[in-house]
Amino acid sequence: MTRRTKIICTIGPASSSSAVLKDMIRAGMDVARIGMAHSSIDEGLELSRAIRSAAADVGRPVGVLVDLPGPKIRVGAFDEDGVELATDSTILLGVGNDASTATEVNVDYEGLLIDVQAGDDLAFGDGGVVASVLQRKGDRLEARITSGGIVRGRPGVHIPSERLSLASPTDDDLVMLDAFLEEGVDMVALSFVRSGSDVRRVATEPHPRGPLIVAKIECRAAVDNLDGIIEESGAIMVARGDLGAECSLAELPHLQKEIIRRCIAAGLPVITATQMLETMIESPSPTRAEASDVANAVFDGTSAVMLSGETAIGKHPVRVVETMAEIASRADEKFDHSAWAERLQAMHLVGATDPAAAITNAMTAAAARACDELDIAAILAISGSGFTVRSMARFRPRANILGFTANSNTFRQLTSSWGTVPMEFESGPSYEDRVQEAVRRAVESGHVKPGDLVGVLAGIALSGAATDVFRLVRVT
Ligand code: PGA
Ligand code: MN
Repeated sequence: MTRRTKIICTIGPASSSSAVLKDMIRAGMDVARIGMAHSSIDEGLELSRAIRSAAADVGRPVGVLVDLPGPKIRVGAFDEDGVELATDSTILLGVGNDASTATEVNVDYEGLLIDVQAGDDLAFGDGGVVASVLQRKGDRLEARITSGGIVRGRPGVHIPSERLSLASPTDDDLVMLDAFLEEGVDMVALSFVRSGSDVRRVATEPHPRGPLIVAKIECRAAVDNLDGIIEESGAIMVARGDLGAECSLAELPHLQKEIIRRCIAAGLPVITATQMLETMIESPSPTRAEASDVANAVFDGTSAVMLSGETAIGKHPVRVVETMAEIASRADEKFDHSAWAERLQAMHLVGATDPAAAITNAMTAAAARACDELDIAAILAISGSGFTVRSMARFRPRANILGFTANSNTFRQLTSSWGTVPMEFESGPSYEDRVQEAVRRAVESGHVKPGDLVGVLAGIALSGAATDVFRLVRVT
């Protein structure tokens, strides 16, 4: 069976060479993520070109996702060998970029003394080390380490989002965005957005002409304003690293499920991110808990699972992709498709206000129902913008979805869609031409064979973008 859950890999020093990129694509990387918190624009552009060229060499579509850092706050560098911030020790927090030690930590945020109050918790890195602010002392803040650990280099600092006066996207984000728009980037992630209007501020052309905008849900305000954010975004990321620092860890698994559920209802791809196979940064195999986490994210309905440090700086960038692919494929086999389709039919589906979208949604609902009643080998969804494909993927059908498009942007944006094989194709101008060509390509690529029953979703009306026909075809 082909894997249904998509794999997103963060590219960094461990994975930026052409040889490693190609091996990661062969191992199953569907989307490559460039974290701009760690790169200059030129480095990012160079990476994007390296990914494109590796994908062309291997002959598989790979989406490029540029992750804009937003108001990422970092500390002045700790010693690379590691510094222990011991539980119950006190530290002084100052503003600046000077080197940090076990007792004096500098933070590159001008607003630190104004925004942060006594009682606030600040988390370093992915949240393992936490300092609780006690009081202001002159131009410093005194804080007690409530959860100790080793820090090295320049970890990020998580300041509770309601305290931050910085808005996202930042001016720096928008400058980076321009450079990548010119490069034709497929997807752009926005960090620390708080509302739909934050997302609107990127003002790119709607996808597929512009990139698919991925809103990262990583602060409490974003959870509170999820519906507004979903409305303005092309996809969503459950960014568990920062979100876990903002809410109680006991809440995090439930937020993950709830965010995923609402994205599926709205027909948006949703990515589950951070610490999925974290121990594989060092170790050749994951923990049992990590293997379960990946499988459970699949059962929650996630469209994609993401690797961060595991592929960016880890020791086993290719092996970790193989491991994730193996765990995700096995979970895909066990996925309860009928329960999902039923759940979705019963759910209040987010209604499409656009009449063409409403027609398409009705057609994909019919296709989902047919998949349940008939032995359908594949759904061939012919789509310009990818909307039809995403609308179909909501139902998490057992039948493979082949996403046919003549638009090369859509083709690469579909790399993040659950259960979808992106297929770029050209056909004659008529409805009949498109259907015949899609069926021919489905056979040629080995996804279906003569005798199979396939469902074809396409638009017949010349005016309007709606998918207004669902047709069953017996392959000859
Ligand atoms: P980051 O986002 O890796 O850019 O911080 C993901 C997360 O916070 O989980
Ligand atoms: Mn984050």
